[in-house]
Parts: sequence; structure tokens; C-alpha cells
Amino acid sequence: LPVSGDSIRHRFIDFYASRGHKVLPSASLVPDDPTVLLTIAGMLQFKPIFLGQVPRQVPRATTAQRCIRTNDVENVGRTSRHHTFFEMLGNFSFGDYFKKEAIRWAWELSTVEFGLPADRLWISVFEDDNEAFEIWHDEMGVPVERIKRMGEDDNFWTSGVTGPCGPCSEIYYDFHPERGYSDTDLNDDSRFIEFYNLVFMEFNKKDDGSLEPLKQKNIDTGLGLERMARILQKVSNNYETDLIYPIIEKTSELAKVPYGLADDHSKLNLKIIGDHLRAIVYLISDGVVPSNIGRGYVVRRLIRRAVRTGRMLGIKGDGQGNLEGAFLPVIAGKVIELSTHINPDVKDRTPRILEELKREELKFVQTLERGEKYLDQMLVEALLSAKASRTVPRLSGKDAFLLYDTYGFPIEITAEVAEERGVSIDMTGFDIEMENQRRQSQAAHSAVKLAMGTSAELTKDVPDTKFLGYETLSATAVVES
Ligand code: ATP
Ligand code: MG
Ligand code: MG
Ligand code: MG
Repeated sequence: LPVSGDSIRHRFIDFYASRGHKVLPSASLVPDDPTVLLTIAGMLQFKPIFLGQVPRQVPRATTAQRCIRTNDVENVGRTSRHHTFFEMLGNFSFGDYFKKEAIRWAWELSTVEFGLPADRLWISVFEDDNEAFEIWHDEMGVPVERIKRMGEDDNFWTSGVTGPCGPCSEIYYDFHPERGYSDTDLNDDSRFIEFYNLVFMEFNKKDDGSLEPLKQKNIDTGLGLERMARILQKVSNNYETDLIYPIIEKTSELAKVPYGLADDHSKLNLKIIGDHLRAIVYLISDGVVPSNIGRGYVVRRLIRRAVRTGRMLGIKGDGQGNLEGAFLPVIAGKVIELSTHINPDVKDRTPRILEELKREELKFVQTLERGEKYLDQMLVEALLSAKASRTVPRLSGKDAFLLYDTYGFPIEITAEVAEERGVSIDMTGFDIEMENQRRQSQAAHSAVKLAMGTSAELTKDVPDTKFLGYETLSATAVVES
């Protein structure tokens, strides 16, 4: 039997525990840090230590950190390796060991503990990091052909706009060594997968972008659990590992679409559900409530996308015969079943999680059904008038905005549905409408404030937030008011 995801987590933690690392629990997905919306990496809970703001309790630590990366939402199911929710296994040094030990242990973990063939492993280093290059080459014996120097985008890690950072070095697994050494791109998802990143954390990036050396040199690493599981379980993408596949199977059952027989589009949709349901359950478990602002909006957007995706798969009602019911709680049940070793608190929070999901789904379905009818009419008209005028079918910015504003249809959903029907959207027009509304609502807010203080009654129909998380690097997504 292939090695389970749970045992990979276990073996990673044990490996570093037996090398003097204190085993610490995962932090919440809601960070104790006002500059970051959600926990995007294992290092986040240690940021104040790296910055020298609080003294270290131990010199070395190891964790299995649950993470959310909304900036990868568009990659979900489209690449074989990205999720919005994943677990990052990490080993950390707080001014203790540095490059040499970090590299040596990462290599030993990969090649001995997990038994990956050394000739399948490729390395990236920051372009001018000769020291790391030499350790990999001279001490680990990695041939120069498999060590790539890469630029800032890939190999200089920062946790956000400001904060601790440094050059990094990554380990990649090669699924197709027969393709040889010429013309290789480590980001080519069909051949390589990055699974381990070692950050040599030496700097603090300041507001003005300058790099200030930290008092101590630190190590911050992250190994993607789902990615290692995919390699060791020899499946063709992360979704088929034992960490996620049972959720897909449950969804398949409700949709009556067996994964193995599904076409590409349905497969993508099954993967989206497999991904989003994990994110949603763990976010709600950590206290995030669906809303129109900040983290609440992240979870609301994920829930809405999951609901729509389920409907595209043909799931009706609760998927088990009750047409008035909700299906997300049914799939969430499977996610919770799998949660024991990821976060034991989730099980205790089951009633609250399921209740929240049910309420949010049923509310959204109502809006969705009204909006879908309306969008359908708009698309038919767009197609007809394009045919009549022999032009390309296009939905106006005004119409897209109406759907957004009145029916709460996220623009991505409108775009997705329109695209499926061969209709494009005037995004520039949509942006102009958004901007107009923003200005009007600001004016309305001040007018209301001037006239009668802040009256909830008067402002309640004025959307006052714009979500920037999917457009900007959402590690630090902000919500404008
Ligand atoms: P990629 O280049 O594949 O997007 P990354 O360089 O952005 O990954 P890091 O910030 O270096 O990722 O994170 C450390 C490790 O966490 C990665 O090497 C990978 O194993 C894992 N990881 C990162 N992002 C994701 C994700 N969206 N889903 C699953 N695992 C991830
Ligand atoms: Mg990435
Ligand atoms: Mg990378
Ligand atoms: Mg990386």
C-alpha cells in the first residue's frame, strides 16, 4: 500500500523532532497579525521571533501548518499542484542552524526518509547565491545540470509587502527524466513539481522596499504535504491523493458523475469542490463567518463558487433527494471525517460548521436562481444581436454590473457562464460602472453622515466593499471601503 498522507506528515515531524526541533501545533488560519488576511505559510506564527520583536522560546521548531492561498484560486484544478487550502510542513531555525544544515537535512529527508531517487531531484537557487549552489553541488553531489539559478520572482521569498524575507532554494521532483536536460522549465507542471522550499531568512523588507539585515540568520522552510503525497502515492495530481480524493468521491456520488469517466470539464469541477470544501470547512472552523468584508468575503466567495460548481455538475438540492436541501454540508461531512490528523478541533465544531454552510448555501441558491434566469436572457439577447449585426457576441458592462449589483452575481461567475456560451464581457465597461458606484456610494455615505449620522437603514443597500483578493497577491488582500 502506498504511504498515506497522514504518515508523511508524521514522518516529517518525527524526522525533525529527532534532530532537536520542538514539535509545535499549527496556528489558526486567522493570523495574529493585522497586516495579513490569512495564514499563507508556516512562518507566519514565528514572524515576531524572526524580526527580533519577541525572544525565541526554542532554537528550532517543526510544524504542520494549515494554510490558505487565495491567490492560487484560479490555479485550482487547472494545475496539478495548487490548492486554496493545503498543509505546509516546516522546519525552522531561530538564529540557530543555517544553510548548510538546512540543505543537508532537506536532502536526507527527501532521499533517505522518503526515498526519492536523487537523480530525479532538481534544485533551484537564487541567482547570486553561490554558497547554496556550492553546498548542493560539492556536498550533496547534485550535478550542475540539475541546479538552476533563478531570479527574484521564484527564489527570493517574502511573506508580504514588508516583513522577514531572504533568498531561497527549492527542491523539485522530475516526473519525466527521459525528456533530458535541454530547454527545461522548472515551472512546467507537466514535468516538474516543486515540493520543498528552504528560505534563508536574513532580511527585513521595509516599507520603502529596502532590505535591512536581521539580527540573526534564520531558516524557514515549507514542504507541501499534498505534493509529497502525490509523488509518493504515484498519482497524476494532488487531487488523487488520499488527502483529497475521498471528498471528490463523495461529490461524484451526489452528482452521479464518476471521476474516472468524467470529461475534462467535470473533472475540473470535481477538483474545485475537492479543494474549496476543505478551505471552507477549515476557515469556518477557525472562526471565519461568511460576510461581505475581509476574511468573511473570502469564505463567502469560496462557498458561492462551490455551490455553482456543484450545480454545474448536476447536483440538485442536497444531492440525496431533498430538492430543498443543501449539498455542501453533506460533502463537508466527508471533509470533517478526514480532519482528525489535520486539526482535531474541527470535529468538535461540526454542528456550527454545518449550520453555517447550510444557511449560506440556501440563501445563495435563491439569488443564483433569479440571477441565472436574468443572465440567460441577457446572453440570448447578446447572441441574437451579434448574429444580426455579424459582430462578436458581447455582454455590456452595464448588464454585468446589474447582475453583480442587484443579484449578487460575482463577476467571475458571470464571465464563466458567458464564456461557456461563447459570449465575452466588456470588462472595461464593468470596471467603469464599479468605479462610478464607488464614487456614488462614498458621496452617499458622506451625505448620510452629514444629514443623520450613520443610519444602517439608509446605507444598507449601498455595497461598500470591493474585494481585491483575487486580483492582487491575496496573501495580504485588503478590502477597501
Ligand atoms: P509554486 O511555485 O508551485 O506556486 P510556491 O513557490 O508559490 O509554489 P512556496 O511559497 O515556496 O510555494 O511554499 C512552500 C511550499 O508549499 C511549496 O514548495 C509547495 O510544496 C507548497 N505550496 C505552495 N503553494 C501551494 C498551493 N497553492 N497548494 C499546495 N501546495 C502549495
Ligand atoms: Mg505559488
Ligand atoms: Mg515556486
Ligand atoms: Mg517556492
